[in-house]
Amino acid sequence: MALSGIQIYKMLPQTNCKECSFPTCLAFAMKLAAKQVELSACPYVTEESKAALAESAAPPIRLVTLKANGNEVKAGNEVVLFRHEKTFYHKPGLFIRVRDDQNEDAIKQKVAAADGYQVEYVGIDLFVDGFAVEAASGDPGAFSAAVSAVREATHRPLILIAQDAGVMEAGLRAIDGEHPLIYGANSDTWQAFAELAKQHEAALGVAAPSLEEIADLTEKIKEAGVEDIVIDPMVRDLNTSLILSTQIRRLALKSNFRALGYPMIAFPGDADDPSRESSLAAQAIAKYAGFVVLDTFSPELVYPLMVMRENIYTDPQKPIQVTPGLYPINDPKPTDPVLATTNFSITYFSVANEVEGSGLPAWLLVTDAEGMSVLTAWAAGKFDAERIAKAVKEFGVAEKVSQKRIILPGHVAVLSGELEEELPDWEVRVGPREAVDLPSFMKQAL
Ligand code: SF4
Repeated sequence: MALSGIQIYKMLPQTNCKECSFPTCLAFAMKLAAKQVELSACPYVTEESKAALAESAAPPIRLVTLKANGNEVKAGNEVVLFRHEKTFYHKPGLFIRVRDDQNEDAIKQKVAAADGYQVEYVGIDLFVDGFAVEAASGDPGAFSAAVSAVREATHRPLILIAQDAGVMEAGLRAIDGEHPLIYGANSDTWQAFAELAKQHEAALGVAAPSLEEIADLTEKIKEAGVEDIVIDPMVRDLNTSLILSTQIRRLALKSNFRALGYPMIAFPGDADDPSRESSLAAQAIAKYAGFVVLDTFSPELVYPLMVMRENIYTDPQKPIQVTPGLYPINDPKPTDPVLATTNFSITYFSVANEVEGSGLPAWLLVTDAEGMSVLTAWAAGKFDAERIAKAVKEFGVAEKVSQKRIILPGHVAVLSGELEEELPDWEVRVGPREAVDLPSFMKQAL
C-alpha cells in the first residue's frame, strides 16, 4: 500500500541536511510520496527504512528491459500522465513482426531491410528497436527455425509470440542466453509461461480482455516469481484502446494500483483494416505503449512514427542541443565566410542543411546559447556579442580563416555594432533572417 508523505517522513533521518536538494526532510517525503523523486537521493536512509519504503519508492510502472547482443530496449518507469507535467522517460520500442509460416528467405529479407534502416534526425540516429516472431504455424520446429532465421539477420532484441508453451520453449531455445519478451500468457497458460519466463530470464507478456482479468493475472504471475511483466488489454480499435490505455496508466500512477503498473504492448497490425496500422501505432506511441509491434516495414511508415516518438519523449525542459564548436561545411577554405548561429539542434540543422545543400563552402560557428533558437536566445541574453566573440576565440576561428568575415543571423542584426567592438579586426555582416535564404545571400553578397 502507498504511504503518505507524513508516514514516509517518520522513516527519514529528519536532520534537514538538504543533501537531497530539498530544504527539509518533509519536503523530500512529500515528493517521494508523489513519485517525483527517487529514495536514493537521500544518502542517509537506514537499511531498515529502505526496506519499509521499498514499495513506496518503487516506480509506479515497472521498468522492463529486453536485451540481446549488447542491445537493449527499455519500457516503463514513467511517472506522469502528461509530458508537460515532467517528462516521459523510455520511448516505446518499435518492433517489426514476421511469422513462422512465411518463407525463410522472405523472413530474412524483411528483417535485414528493417534492421539496416537508419536515418538521422536533428543529430539523433533513428532505427527500428527489434523484431517480433510469431508462431503462426503452431509447429515447434517451424518456430525455432524462424527465430533462428531472424537472429541471423539481426542482433536486436526479440519478442516471441506463441499460444502454446511447448512451441514457445522451442523458440526460446534458439536464442538461449538473451532476455526477450515472450507473449502472450492468458488465464489458461500463465503457469507454463511463467515457468518459461523464469527459466529463460524473459519478460512475460500477458493478454486478457478486461482490466480485472489482467490485474488478476499479473498478481498471480508476480507471486509465481516473475517481476518483468508486460500487459495487453486486447483491444485493437482506436477508441477503445485509447480509453483502456489511459485507464491503465491513470490507475497505475494516480491510484498506485500495482497490479496494472507495467508497460503495455500494442499490435497496430492486428486492426481489421490494415490502413489503420499507422494511426493505431501513432496513438499507441502517444498513449501509452511501451512496445509497439508493426506488421509493415517501410520507411514511409516508420520514419514519421520515429520522429513523432522523439518529439514526445524528449524532455520539454531540455532543448535538443548540438555541441558548440566550429563546423566546416562543404570543405571550406581560409577565405570562406564564418556563419554564426546557436546550438539549438533544429536551428543548427536548418542552417547546416541549407548551406550543405547549396554546395557553397562555409565555416559554421555554433555558439553555446543553452540550446535556444536565435531569437529566443537573444531575448534571454544567451546569444549576444560577448558570447559570439568568446566562441570565436574559444574555437580558434581566427587561425582557420585568412579573411575575417562573420555573418550574423538577420534576426539579431541589432548585435552587429557590439560585435564589431568585441571583434575589432573582423568584418561583421548581417545575413538573412531565415536559413532558407542563406544560399542566395552567400551567392550574391559574399
Ligand atoms: S538528504 Fe535525507 S536527511 Fe537530508 S534533508 Fe534530504 S531527506 Fe532529509
